[in-house]
Amino acid sequence: MKFNNYGFIVNQMHKPKQVPKGVKVKAQLEIELRKQIFYLRKENSKLRKNIKISTNETVSLPDQNSAVNINKINLARQEDRNQKLKKANAQLIMTSVELQVAVEEIKNAKAEMHHLAHHDFLTDLPNRMQLYEKIHLDIEWAKRHNTKMAVMFLDIDHFKSINDSLGHATGDKLLQSIANRLRSVVRSTDTVSRLGGDEFVVLFSEFDQIKTLIPKIEKIREVISLPHHIGGMNIDISTSMGISLYPDDGEDSDTLILNADSAMYHAKENGRNRFYFFKPEIRRKISTLRTAEKNIYAALHNKEFELFYQAQINLNDGGIAGVEALIRWRHPVDGVLSPVYFIPAAEECGAIIPIGRWVLHEACRQAQAWKADGLEFNIIAVNISAREFDDSDFLDNVCEVLNETGLEPSRLELEITETVLMKNIETSTAILHALRAMGIKISIDDFGTGYSSLSYLKRMPVDTMKIDQSFVKDISTENDDVLVKAIIALGKNLNYKVIAEGVETLEQLEFLRRNLCEAAQGFWLHSPMPRLEFTKMLKQPMLSWPGR
Ligand SMILES: [Mg+2]
Repeated sequence: MKFNNYGFIVNQMHKPKQVPKGVKVKAQLEIELRKQIFYLRKENSKLRKNIKISTNETVSLPDQNSAVNINKINLARQEDRNQKLKKANAQLIMTSVELQVAVEEIKNAKAEMHHLAHHDFLTDLPNRMQLYEKIHLDIEWAKRHNTKMAVMFLDIDHFKSINDSLGHATGDKLLQSIANRLRSVVRSTDTVSRLGGDEFVVLFSEFDQIKTLIPKIEKIREVISLPHHIGGMNIDISTSMGISLYPDDGEDSDTLILNADSAMYHAKENGRNRFYFFKPEIRRKISTLRTAEKNIYAALHNKEFELFYQAQINLNDGGIAGVEALIRWRHPVDGVLSPVYFIPAAEECGAIIPIGRWVLHEACRQAQAWKADGLEFNIIAVNISAREFDDSDFLDNVCEVLNETGLEPSRLELEITETVLMKNIETSTAILHALRAMGIKISIDDFGTGYSSLSYLKRMPVDTMKIDQSFVKDISTENDDVLVKAIIALGKNLNYKVIAEGVETLEQLEFLRRNLCEAAQGFWLHSPMPRLEFTKMLKQPMLSWPGR
């Protein structure tokens, strides 16, 4: 919580709701002083009147001596009244000065309150309220002078992980540094504003062509990406930006901000560290995605997701080498939906995080239940998406799920695609080592489809390599056999267990056995099955390899 000079909570997004105590006291003082001045003025004028009367007074003089005495008395009286008037005047001046000071202080306090209500406390940039007023003024100006104006929404990439890893104090300093840099590169007629969090908005007023705007946006991207020196560290960041134009993309503040935000969201979705100008199709895409997001969350809430299980078969003895948990959506209208229909949207909108957590929990819970029933499945394999793997809570979640379900870590294998692992090799290696330290097994999924750097691969603690089904499919055509053989040899040399995915024919299976591939999964062996069906199969292990 933040407190301002008046001791009440300041929220950068809202106007302070109550008048600060200090201002109230001063206002009371002003009233008292005004009353006092009124009284003093009245007293003053009374005294002046008295003096006037005393100087005009005529006294009868019976003899010389008494005339002298009366004159002395009159003079003394007049002197006394003069003194009183002098004192009253001095008091009047002092009170007037005090009043002036009080009025000045109230004026300053009111100005400060106005500033607080219109500025962000952390960066001192105009806040949302001020921004809306400014957009309105800029639109009016653009209308009158037939020019354009632009609203740019700016968001710092991965700001949450900076806050999480370096602390909020560093995060705040970083926001201040960004605010200063933004201020330093825009014209005095432009406006930089902070909406809260790591969201900034820049207004570019008065320009007529987009080509004059682009260098300004590039400049902003450049200055923000220069290292920020904070607390003895150099912090490198990037930013995603979206721009909407008046009058092309909207004629009021709300529409312009919403469309700039959508364009920024589009920039984030397309790899961050870039900017996009708003286009109507971006809005349509986002609206489709929002609907998908709503439906996915509703499905999660209504427990419409379900796990199917597919056996991985040991090619030496036909036993179960493991089981892969695969999500399905039992849709009330469309029936059982394969993940291709909803996982890409879930990845895009972020719903994959709660879905992934549910999958991991459900798979571990089921595995533990099989174990409790004495059913052997060896290991349970769970797919981890790119977004889950990048999520700062990923390791904590895995740990929590294992604690909640009681499954031994060595019974869990996480399948991560080669592309995800190779995206950020250093981070991936660190996460894999942390998983390995917990006793969890790691599998490289869809091997052969990414661009693995073999020297890095050697440093990663991996247990299993899954040959992508596209290679297995090509086994029937003789020339492509070479690739599968090479991948099996590579896996064996790196001491990995090698599993072939997507086995659909006996010919493919025989080839894999001949080439000493350890395990395989695919429709020819077993299709993914619902929980009860798979449990039934586990109870009859001899039937696990139908081709045997
Ligand atoms: Mg998989």
